[in-house]
Amino acid sequence: MAFKPANKIQDLQYFGEFGGVNPSISDSSTYTFLSAKTMFDTFEGNADGCYLYSRHTSPSNLYLGEALAAMEGTETANVSASGMGAITPVILQLCGAGDHVVSSRTIYGGTYAFLKNFTPRFNIKASFVDITKLEVVEAAITENTKVLYCESVSNPLLEVADIAGLAKLAKKYDLKLVVDNTFSPLSISPAKLGADIVIHSLTKFINGSSDTVGGVVCGTQEFINELKDVNSGASMLLGSTMDSLRSASVLKNLRTLHVRMEQHSKNAMYLAERFQSLGLKTVYPGLQSHPSHDIFKSMMNEKYGFGGMLTIDVGSLDRANALMEMMQHKNLGYLAVSLGFYKTLFSAPGTSTSSEIPEDEQAEMGLTDGLIRFSIGLDADIERTFNMMKACMEELHILEAELA
Ligand code: PLP
Repeated sequence: MAFKPANKIQDLQYFGEFGGVNPSISDSSTYTFLSAKTMFDTFEGNADGCYLYSRHTSPSNLYLGEALAAMEGTETANVSASGMGAITPVILQLCGAGDHVVSSRTIYGGTYAFLKNFTPRFNIKASFVDITKLEVVEAAITENTKVLYCESVSNPLLEVADIAGLAKLAKKYDLKLVVDNTFSPLSISPAKLGADIVIHSLTKFINGSSDTVGGVVCGTQEFINELKDVNSGASMLLGSTMDSLRSASVLKNLRTLHVRMEQHSKNAMYLAERFQSLGLKTVYPGLQSHPSHDIFKSMMNEKYGFGGMLTIDVGSLDRANALMEMMQHKNLGYLAVSLGFYKTLFSAPGTSTSSEIPEDEQAEMGLTDGLIRFSIGLDADIERTFNMMKACMEELHILEAELA
């Protein structure tokens, strides 16, 4: 039977202590015990239902974590203060000195910088490869490799990982496949395709209101316990814990994710088709012209579409900047990084979210100066949005330049 991630979220019920329809928020950093023995047992992780200290865990964080685990179809999950606060402990938990990561070369700039510049301090090395070519991925695996790392849909180039194919490789070489699913919540369920660990920056579509940063690691009970171990857990010891007030608020937003994703995807598909028919170089996994369209289709939970992210290439940074400024001026969206907001957000990744990647490597991976990344909003009238965007392009002579 098809996996239905939104049903999984909706079927969970948590009530507040007075019968509230929302669970009560645990507004405490520490918890009392009637007996010293129970406190000791809780510290040792042997007292179910007891809480000790909110960096370890809190009821509010558990509620959100369990809802996200249900969405991804994993045994459990651990929420964190940001997406990077989820990614970095996972890598440090899985790798020690001498170990090696095979990573997609088109990933979020912060993750790239962590693997390229930071983990080598601990003698953890990374090879960056074209994740869409399984033979290239396989050739990069060495006897020290512990992790295959990718994004389901990559930031910013929207390359699509063949998760089932990567999972087979991970199994063959006894590696952990870690998938960042930030760009495609609900649409793709990586754990169902064989990923061992699924990460999200909750900052984006899942929270959807651009009012907080947050992250989550979804995985087996065994791995999440390791991350949270008081003696050796990277999440516990590095301490990037989400605050309970925030996790309560993200949980409330999670409940509308299915409605929002359908609308983001519908609007993005509409614009991608129109942009492409104007002759603009348009990348969107929903277009037949996307090199991994069929792979996305074979992996997707159809109802939620191909996601809210698309890119166009207008040929130069100057043109990209002029277009973004004009679109913002006409209230078509905001010149801002991040994604998943109700309003369309656009930025030029080469000079913003991917600026950590050196220019020559940007060129090699096809990240051009004129690339604009759009996170398409929940616009009620996407036809009007398109007509207004087209008018901006005409005023700036972008279409003539593109078609020339
Ligand atoms: N993963 C992806 C795909 C992202 O786009 C981002 C942020 O832009 C992150 C992870 C990092 O998340 P955060 O900013 O919440 O730490």
